[in-house]
Amino acid sequence: MPIATTNPATGQVLKTYEAMSTEQLDDAIERTDLAYQQLLGTTVEQRAGWMNAAADLLEGDRDEIARIMTTEMGKTYVAAQAEVTKCASACRFYADRAPSFLADEPADATAVKATRAFVRYQPIGVVLAVMPWNFPLWQVIRFAAPALMAGNTGLLKHASNVPQTALLLEDVFRRAGFPEGAFTALLVGSDAVDRILSDPRVRAATLTGSERAGRSIAQSAGRELKKTVLELGGSDPFVVMPSADLDRAAEVATTARCQNNGQSCIAAKRFIVHTDVFDAFAEKFAANMAALRVGDPMDTDTDVGPLASEGGRDEVHAQVRDAVDNGATVLCGGEPPAGEGWFYPPTVVTDLTPQMRMWREEVFGPVAGLYRVSSYSEAIEVANGTAFGLGSNAWTRDPAEQERFATDLDAGNVFINGMTTSFPELPFGGVKNSGYGRELSALGMREFCNTKTVWVGDGAAASAGAGAHAE
Ligand code: NAP
Repeated sequence: MPIATTNPATGQVLKTYEAMSTEQLDDAIERTDLAYQQLLGTTVEQRAGWMNAAADLLEGDRDEIARIMTTEMGKTYVAAQAEVTKCASACRFYADRAPSFLADEPADATAVKATRAFVRYQPIGVVLAVMPWNFPLWQVIRFAAPALMAGNTGLLKHASNVPQTALLLEDVFRRAGFPEGAFTALLVGSDAVDRILSDPRVRAATLTGSERAGRSIAQSAGRELKKTVLELGGSDPFVVMPSADLDRAAEVATTARCQNNGQSCIAAKRFIVHTDVFDAFAEKFAANMAALRVGDPMDTDTDVGPLASEGGRDEVHAQVRDAVDNGATVLCGGEPPAGEGWFYPPTVVTDLTPQMRMWREEVFGPVAGLYRVSSYSEAIEVANGTAFGLGSNAWTRDPAEQERFATDLDAGNVFINGMTTSFPELPFGGVKNSGYGRELSALGMREFCNTKTVWVGDGAAASAGAGAHAE
């Protein structure tokens, strides 16, 4: 895949970049490793100062950064502005919380026959971040803010279609005051990832991306015995039960499916509706979807911009055609408009069967699958019946049912009567083929820390390992 900025609203290639040579890549890794040695000599308070400065820079440059993101991957300008703001607040969150997240955690010294025992969180070194284009700033910041605050340094291999966003992120951290090389954008293709992972200076990797990329990176990292966090695809269920507020559910369903032009890992993708309210929900939902304005992503009145690539748009349409050819019914949308740009209309498809691609695959565009179920247990069966397990939503006003959904939905996140969202305060990640490990909260920061056990005794026989057994 060429490293280039191509405007998805027009299909025009605006800027192309040469991939780094092997020597340039090696230099970049060296700089990032040296920066790690420098960060080891800094305090968390110093790093917090730089992280807050990064937040200021993001906020100050918000509109220009948003314009670049919209130009590179087609999200609406309004959504891009909101993404920049969210990133600035995540930087501030980690600047503020890192001292407590990284503080020594005392353990029960008596139970382990010590005079003192505790857990210390320390950085591990250079971490490779392989990132996708769909939230080109947020996906990177939710790795970079906790990693840099912990004292690690980062190598960013961003998606090949968002090189300008990658470079501006490197620039933001440098201008904020982090040592030269603490956060380095690598202009390389995905074929370089295996080589980077085999470099001994690189200690771990995080990927946000497809299942295919996840398998490949996990394989390389497994060979090298390096830790990975994988945030992969999803096909989130959105279950609507009879007690739900249907108007609100249909409104949130529309946003949850079409946010980011339908290209979000935690977008609700499969709408599983109890038969008692199916017809009423379907009517409201299809009407809302059909009313969305599709068009120029820079126009502040636009709800849905183009998909990020021609291939992505064609894939979404192929999934819809497969369903229709096998007997599914389209309630709205279903045909890409003529003309330039990679647009796809908000679409609702029902009468799906397990033989269809839409039943089992992730649909990365504004296309909703609508499923009728006749009971709670059938809703859970359909909801959990894919290989994914990232986010999930359930709409019910019955407290007992809310409790059951919280336990029974096989996913990394369960949102009841609201849209699945990522918050710096809450852990984020999936189960099954949606990946493993967690980002955000204290857990996200500690994924790339050495969780070190420290046991201190007085050397007396009564304490020094007495009664314990060696492993
Ligand atoms: P993708 O093809 O996997 O690309 C993501 C990143 O991985 C890019 O930097 C890409 O580089 C790189 N890559 C691709 N194949 C690779 C390989 N074999 N080895 C190493 N690196 C590789 O993903 P996408 O289709 O662009 O993005 C959409 C996917 O990401 C969806 O499945 C979505 O659900 C998932 N996603 C998950 C989350 C989450 O938090 N769980 C969030 C957002 C998106 P190139 O661009 O150079 O190919």
